[in-house]
Amino acid sequence: MGRLAPSPTGALHLGNARTFLLAWLSVRSRGGTLLLRIEDIDGPRIKPEAAQQTVEDLCWLGLDWDGEIVVQSERRERYAAAAARLVAAGLAYPCVCTRSEIEGAASAPHEAGDDGPVYPGTCRGRFGDLAAAKAASERDAALRFRVEVDAVPFVDAFAGAQPGRVRGDFVVQKRDLGPAYQLAVVVDAAAQGVTEVVRAADLLPSTPRQLLLYAALGLVPPTFVHVPLVVGVDGLRLAKRHGDTSLRHFRERGVRAEQLVGYLAFLCGLRPRGGRCMPRDLLAAFQWASLAPASVRGDDHGLLRG
Ligand code: GLU
Repeated sequence: MGRLAPSPTGALHLGNARTFLLAWLSVRSRGGTLLLRIEDIDGPRIKPEAAQQTVEDLCWLGLDWDGEIVVQSERRERYAAAAARLVAAGLAYPCVCTRSEIEGAASAPHEAGDDGPVYPGTCRGRFGDLAAAKAASERDAALRFRVEVDAVPFVDAFAGAQPGRVRGDFVVQKRDLGPAYQLAVVVDAAAQGVTEVVRAADLLPSTPRQLLLYAALGLVPPTFVHVPLVVGVDGLRLAKRHGDTSLRHFRERGVRAEQLVGYLAFLCGLRPRGGRCMPRDLLAAFQWASLAPASVRGDDHGLLRG
């Protein structure tokens, strides 16, 4: 059982589309079930119209899914309940530190990781619960997971053995009571019975934290398959500066789904450049070994000239 988990922060671009194609091929080539989950809890970055756009883009690409679409913003109680369980078990605690306080406490700049500086543990053991934290500090408190290890080594089904470094206690519930991404995806994957997570390699650093949460909540983690990023011609992660690589942009310029999927198949090592196909045409020959282990350069030239 796999899943597509788009964040509706804007139109799908080539990189997302390639990851979704791979997730779809991995599951569908084995006759498995694929779910669609809209990850719309990331506050201000979420664009209301983007969820519908994402669904349309997936349909246009010829990617389908099974069952009802799951929408994270409708599942807040589940995340809150999981966070409360972590607190009750002594594995998470209220934290009232602001980002600038944490930055100020970090002893050296090299402590800064992907998510900013390592949390120095200021609020560990300080407050009994959220209400006590608020009463004492006059601030809304987040909940932070207590990390007692330096690493959670794991084997990724595509990227191989990972050291799985974990750097400090991390937030599982924000101060507005909304779930942090790390907790929401773990709760959802377990509730939905997801056994395979195919996603882009930029989420590799999140995986050890998620593995800690699976263990803390007594849940079985899925198999992780992190696929290399699609990068721009400069080798950097595909972004706005590389021009518009959104599917909408290509569609508006008359690019057909067969051309775009053909290009994605080329980026997956499944077809030569310039071919046309739909996802179902790739099922019979799909194998992970075709995918290059390093990041792949994606551009719009072939598509818009073609
Ligand atoms: N929603 C995330 C994204 O679009 C993916 C989350 C995940 O796969 O865990 O990048």
